[in-house]
Amino acid sequence: MLNSNLHTVISRFLFLVLLFVFCFTFAGRTIAATPYSPERLFRVGLYFQDKTSDNSLFSLVNTSNYGFEIGLYNKDTQSFICQKATGSQNILLSAENGAIHISAFAKDSAGSEMPSDFIYSSSTTFYIRPLGASLITVAGVGYGGMLEYSLTPSGKITLINLITLDEYVKGVLPCEFIPSWDEEALKAGAVVIRTYALASIMGKHAESNFDVCASTHCQVYKGMNNVTDKTNAAVDATAGEIVTYNGKPALTVYHSSSIDATESVSSAWGSSQEQYPYLSSVKTPFIDSKLIPGSIWSKAIRPQDLLTYILTKYPGKLSGDIREITYEKGESGYVNQMTVTDVVGGSVTVKTSGQVRTLLSKFIKSANFDLASTYLYSDTKTEAISSVLTASGQQNADTGEKYTVLSADGKKTVQGIEKVFFVNGKGYGHGIGLSQYGAQQLSLLGYSYDKIIKTYYTGVLIEKFS
Ligand SMILES: [Zn+2]
Repeated sequence: MLNSNLHTVISRFLFLVLLFVFCFTFAGRTIAATPYSPERLFRVGLYFQDKTSDNSLFSLVNTSNYGFEIGLYNKDTQSFICQKATGSQNILLSAENGAIHISAFAKDSAGSEMPSDFIYSSSTTFYIRPLGASLITVAGVGYGGMLEYSLTPSGKITLINLITLDEYVKGVLPCEFIPSWDEEALKAGAVVIRTYALASIMGKHAESNFDVCASTHCQVYKGMNNVTDKTNAAVDATAGEIVTYNGKPALTVYHSSSIDATESVSSAWGSSQEQYPYLSSVKTPFIDSKLIPGSIWSKAIRPQDLLTYILTKYPGKLSGDIREITYEKGESGYVNQMTVTDVVGGSVTVKTSGQVRTLLSKFIKSANFDLASTYLYSDTKTEAISSVLTASGQQNADTGEKYTVLSADGKKTVQGIEKVFFVNGKGYGHGIGLSQYGAQQLSLLGYSYDKIIKTYYTGVLIEKFS
């Protein structure tokens, strides 16, 4: 599977390299061959699927004095047309009438309404890359490698960043892990990011012709904007290393934090545990929640708010007020079954912790929670009455009656004012695989990066790939 994907990638980028070589030879210029090894080039979708909000705003800022190379390939005529923007120019792209129009601005007039040096229009895919060791800045984000532009059938610009795998890992690491974290945690991050990227080649975004997107859907990537010497060093120190299981790259999904245990892939997503045995639930006894901001959380959910929210996801499934929520937990402690029932018998049932997260995503940080129906005692604080101590002992306080309580403010009478669902939870994210905050804590406890990785992914190896 991986090999065939790699061959696809190799073929694709060999073609691309040939395109550039031919392109600039044809144009009568001699340029250095691409510095990239074709098998390492990686495709990151930046703007795609008509999500581009304004096609007139692709302003490319030249951060050096070297200029850009711009190559166009017309499939119909099999011809190449190449241009070069000088070091004193920025580029503006816009889409109109089924073509992308490329103009160059004098640098100091970028953003003005007077484009100069109209370069070309293309209705087919073309590529831009900076000359020299500079970046191209798009919407405030500086990208290395090359940028590939094309139009969707509806005329929107699709933008893909082509870079080496480890340049991509360097871009992702400071976005997904905190750059000031311990060296071993960052090295663990570099290895799992690299592995996830390799396992994603022509995966879930294959239809859009790239490997990963730049959001949390895959891995957060903001070009080279956030890289530091420390994060780059973690990538370099682990160069070529990936997580493997049975000799193949593992699907190294990871999450922000889990406190006492991680979640299994079967409980979270209904995936086959046999297919991903390394994504099983793991007890993590060393995690100190006090060191993870917001990792112990609670939330009062008003039934009407919940009803409105559920109806946006399951239209027509509920037609009256919510009467009851029942749920079950898996072995990991994450809620992986839930049924919400209304007063007229309608119901919504979900059967994985991932679906539970989706069902309640506006209200919870993870599916590792307990939920109770209770009363708030104040309409200004989301604090629930759980029980009261009386002369006859502790009593449940899950009704709207009045209670006299002793608090830090002295003796007072409170009354449940509103029945709500109250959630107490821990952790953030789907809970599968490596915990980012957990990696940092284990690192501070003296764990090496490979031991951190093996703590979270059962039975894996760290191996060099070539
Ligand atoms: Zn994605």
